[in-house]
Amino acid sequence: MSFVVEKGEIVANKRDYYEVLGLQKNASQDEIKKAYRKLAIQYHPDKNPGNKEAEEKFKEATEAYEVLGDDKKRQAYDQFGFAGVEGMGGGFNAETFRGFEDIFGNFGGGMGGFGSIFDQLFGGGGGFSGFSGFGGGQQGGPRQGANLRYDVEIDFKDAVFGTKVEIQYTHNDSCPDCKGQGGTGRKTCPTCGGSGQIRRSSGFFSMASPCNRCHGEGFVIDNPCKGCGGTGLVKKRQKIAVTIPAGVENGKRIRIPRQGDAGPVGGPPGDLFVFIRVRPHAYFERENDDLYCAIPISITQAALGADLIVTALDGKTIKVKTPAGMQSGKMLRIRGEGVPSASGRRGDLYIKLMVQVPERLSKKGKELLEELSRVEGENSSPKPIPLDKLNNM
Ligand SMILES: [Zn+2]
Ligand SMILES: [Zn+2]
Repeated sequence: MSFVVEKGEIVANKRDYYEVLGLQKNASQDEIKKAYRKLAIQYHPDKNPGNKEAEEKFKEATEAYEVLGDDKKRQAYDQFGFAGVEGMGGGFNAETFRGFEDIFGNFGGGMGGFGSIFDQLFGGGGGFSGFSGFGGGQQGGPRQGANLRYDVEIDFKDAVFGTKVEIQYTHNDSCPDCKGQGGTGRKTCPTCGGSGQIRRSSGFFSMASPCNRCHGEGFVIDNPCKGCGGTGLVKKRQKIAVTIPAGVENGKRIRIPRQGDAGPVGGPPGDLFVFIRVRPHAYFERENDDLYCAIPISITQAALGADLIVTALDGKTIKVKTPAGMQSGKMLRIRGEGVPSASGRRGDLYIKLMVQVPERLSKKGKELLEELSRVEGENSSPKPIPLDKLNNM
């Protein structure tokens, strides 16, 4: 079971701390302890597994106790409300833990005494070991640096055929003076023993919070490096070339390992993620590995068939023979002229033929069309086109 009590946030709709503990404003320290102990036992997460409401109540009571159980904080709270205790070390610091020991220690002769009460309440002492996982989260060892995001916009054509882009960004680099170690005289943090967490078990509670002394790192440095102030990190602008593979799609990201922020004090670096945005093309569209474009043809080309020369996306010219009797909107497929894919197979190019009706005719052209009209005959009372046929046009 894992349960971390996070640093209390000061929010407007919080319940009054006295109300939380069910106390009057003039309650004695003894009454505060008693009230908290009662609630802590009632709402402890191990007694209420998976019960969010109990967890919230437990946190709420703990926070209230943290303030009211401390004379200085209580005074500030009485005078200024939540704002008075904001930033006064909400959450669990070493002082609070001493407080816990204190209240449970007084409870019937030391921890052992409390343990036996616990046994009665929860039926057996076997469950104690289960608390050790309480407050998990941060693991030991140096932390990894942050992953970074860089957005890049590329041309449609470059996305289809691949390209190389140079990008510049600022990241945390390993300090050259101390080689990222933060200084010399590195030793295990004496406060937390290297775990990076302060943890207190009382037989009933085991709680963890980041160690104040080493800020959760688990070690301290005797002689911090002047170049980086002991963090092992310096800001650095860096320029790298990123290869964008052929066929990359809009919204995809490319992971570049170890080019994010360096890890603090010798931790491993994070990764850089390059997010790709593809600028739309004026003539070509894409669907998966296929490309689409539309080509205008005249009514005579549509009727008689034509030899066309089409320029593909890569600039190469392709000869296209259109059959006679093409309706407007018909699609021609040209195999292997689409997007190169990782499998090595290229998609296809689809050309939509759009019949363009002349808006202006020469005198001769008009005569010829009138002649055609006479020869072919005109249907002056056309019937609707059946829908199934229409959808195939
Ligand atoms: Zn520490
Ligand atoms: Zn340094």
